[in-house]
Amino acid sequence: MDKSKLNSFMFVERIRHVLCNNPDKRYLLVRSNIRDFKLVNQVFGFQKGNEILRCMKKLIVEHGGFFEVFDQLHVDQFVFLIRKDKFDDELFISMGKACSELVDNAAFSMHFQLGIYEITDPEMEVLSMCDRAKLALKSIKIDEPFSMAWYDESIMEERLYSKKIISEFDSALKDERFLMYLQPQANTKGEIISAEALARWMLEDGTILSPSHFISILEDSELIWKLDLYMWDKAARLLSEWKDDPEKSNLSLSVNISPKDLYYLDIATILVGLVQKYDIPPSKMNVEITECSFVDNPELYIDLISKLHKAGFSIEIDDFGSGYSSLTLLKNFHADVLKLDMGFLQDTEDLIRSEIIIDSVIEMAKRLDMQVISEGVETQEQAAFLKINGCDFFQGFYFSRPVPYDKFDTVLKAYNLERTNNRSVRPKSLRDLVQEAV
Ligand code: C2E
Ligand code: CA
Ligand code: CA
Repeated sequence: MDKSKLNSFMFVERIRHVLCNNPDKRYLLVRSNIRDFKLVNQVFGFQKGNEILRCMKKLIVEHGGFFEVFDQLHVDQFVFLIRKDKFDDELFISMGKACSELVDNAAFSMHFQLGIYEITDPEMEVLSMCDRAKLALKSIKIDEPFSMAWYDESIMEERLYSKKIISEFDSALKDERFLMYLQPQANTKGEIISAEALARWMLEDGTILSPSHFISILEDSELIWKLDLYMWDKAARLLSEWKDDPEKSNLSLSVNISPKDLYYLDIATILVGLVQKYDIPPSKMNVEITECSFVDNPELYIDLISKLHKAGFSIEIDDFGSGYSSLTLLKNFHADVLKLDMGFLQDTEDLIRSEIIIDSVIEMAKRLDMQVISEGVETQEQAAFLKINGCDFFQGFYFSRPVPYDKFDTVLKAYNLERTNNRSVRPKSLRDLVQEAV
């Protein structure tokens, strides 16, 4: 048996021993982790990484009296058995701080994390307790210098749900159970000029799953590129079907690119291949790249955007304003359209402040030679407000919810009919307000 296996075996035995001999006490199984420790090694070198680990071990030993059992599970992961009444997060915060101070770099902060499982069933396998503490660790989504999460059953349910999604994904894709929904986008005249392609998953019982139930799971499990390939193909094929239809030949479609696609796909070559395969102009296919993508790989995105531009595609920065780097990214990325995140329209109680911000962002986009589309437009007031402030395009429930692509025809016809009728019957509809403002 190698040393690490022997260690973990002894550690399991020691925990079991404490639990068996103290049935009247409550214990916590705690796992610590330094987020992106690999990165610390890469950026500052292995020597620095080792120094941090040595510091961590020294502090743990120094405070050994607080822990019933402790051990090093993996490189930067430690496990502790602690009496619940002795648990003190301040102790871990101070250990994390001491280690962080070894990294003398203002641009980089270490993230020290704790996953905590309160042992409710002392008979449970110790390794299952460790797994639960690990699940708690994994549930941490915030990027703070110190963060901790307690395990609860919902974390396990989420985990099982993710596993189910992942295991059913390939066959669902093969059986064409992913559907393309389209959500119309209107111009300032109130005409539908394009639509965004959005995925839905039809389960075997006919239930339609919305993307919030599967996109982030597919991203985390590195599977999203398969769905995106499928959606881009569907969008391109539909554009080719629309080519000879006088009602739809002018429409374009926007497709979504996941930040993870870049690692798996040669996106530019694939999109160029698709427009050739379906014989459609690339200008009809708008590529939405979400703002948060740009943060991790700026150079790769600059290259991608330049290739897509050369090939004739239009690039939209999706969810603009939802992240922290919105303004800096505008400096480096030459996109054609800025898609304002719906957060701009939500909680707009202080209308004056909102108007100043929206107005300034639109003004800036115009000066950078970009058009602006706002998503999440739900009311006539919002649309009029955006229009007055110079927004070029609108997308949101006020116009239409996303609809199955084969129902898009009906929505388009009904919309155009309503527009015509509204002109004489209800001149103050959104579409008219927008038109009046032109
Ligand atoms: P997104 O790209 O920001 O898409 C817009 C989302 O806002 C859609 O949610 C849409 O239904 C919703 N929405 C539209 N108008 C309104 C409105 O007026 N009010 C509110 N509250 N919401 C509105 P959906 O379809 O659930 O998609 C959620 C997200 O999932 C998308 O956000 C996109 O990030 C992702 N997604 C959807 N389909 C795909 C896909 O095929 N590939 C990838 N990579 N991501 C996708
Ligand atoms: Ca989008
Ligand atoms: Ca968006």
